[in-house]
Amino acid sequence: MTNDNHNRQTARTGFPCPNCQGFIETTAVNLLITRSLFCPSCGLRLDIDVANSRRAFDALRKINEAQRNLEEKSKFGTN
Ligand SMILES: [Zn+2]
Repeated sequence: MTNDNHNRQTARTGFPCPNCQGFIETTAVNLLITRSLFCPSCGLRLDIDVANSRRAFDALRKINEAQRNLEEKSKFGTN
């Protein structure tokens, strides 16, 4: 754990694994690019079918909202 201070403002975004509830770290952009994710906790592969999956869109929207919230917090929270 040597990067803590460097990563202080880079809050993690992602969602809980549907299988093990472990945190799957990703970003909306990453989801769109990769279209598949692996849970680091249990190894579950998630294929993101953006065209057909409402859940994927929902996840994307939540991630985007989370990122926006974080951006606004970092904008206004000047320490
Ligand atoms: Zn998992």
